[in-house]
Amino acid sequence: MTPNFYTPFSMESIPILDVSLNKYTAINLSFDNQELKGFDFEDLEECQNYIDKVLKNNNATVAYGGYLEQRNLYQCKSIFSGMGQPQRNIHLGLDFWCKAGTKVIAPLNGEVHSFRNNHATGDYGPTIILEHKNKSKVFYSLYGHLSVTSLIDLYKGKSFCKGDILGELGTPEENVNYAPHLHFQLINDIGDYIGDYPGVCAKEDLDFYSKNCPNPSLLLNLETC
Ligand SMILES: [Zn+2]
Repeated sequence: MTPNFYTPFSMESIPILDVSLNKYTAINLSFDNQELKGFDFEDLEECQNYIDKVLKNNNATVAYGGYLEQRNLYQCKSIFSGMGQPQRNIHLGLDFWCKAGTKVIAPLNGEVHSFRNNHATGDYGPTIILEHKNKSKVFYSLYGHLSVTSLIDLYKGKSFCKGDILGELGTPEENVNYAPHLHFQLINDIGDYIGDYPGVCAKEDLDFYSKNCPNPSLLLNLETC
């Protein structure tokens, strides 16, 4: 049965999470959200409370958004601001905030390119990258903040069909210290990266990354926010 998605999904949208979670709402985690002024992003409970508030106010089960969003979220995490490097704070994927353990569904056919537990604080935690072929074009999709068990039994080249269960969302202990969510990102040219790819960039690099990492909403037929 086709899931009857709550707006902003259309009937033709491609599921990426357990289809029983069919009420989605947009969430704004950008600099310009006045509700987040003075917000402590290092406080996991404060983050989860804000997400829960957005979900409750919108009678939703999933809050999503964040493509090319400029965020304060990364200021407190050293992996996003190396010595002498510009601050990386523009988000290149689409985040889906919902409960740990939520099933992640492959949105299109593909095979495992690589996987890894990126366990440094503020990183992706358990991560899977799929490779997709569309006629002569090859591109990649990245799934971050999964559970540790999502990586069991994986191997390079393992096939997934559209609609297969790819994994599940990790807890803050696994994901690494974020409120549970899926980071979903598209990548045209992955270069030499294995099990990892930058999920945020500096303003100076936005032109390159925004072209190399197209808007995932377009692939999922999601209304952009
Ligand atoms: Zn993300």
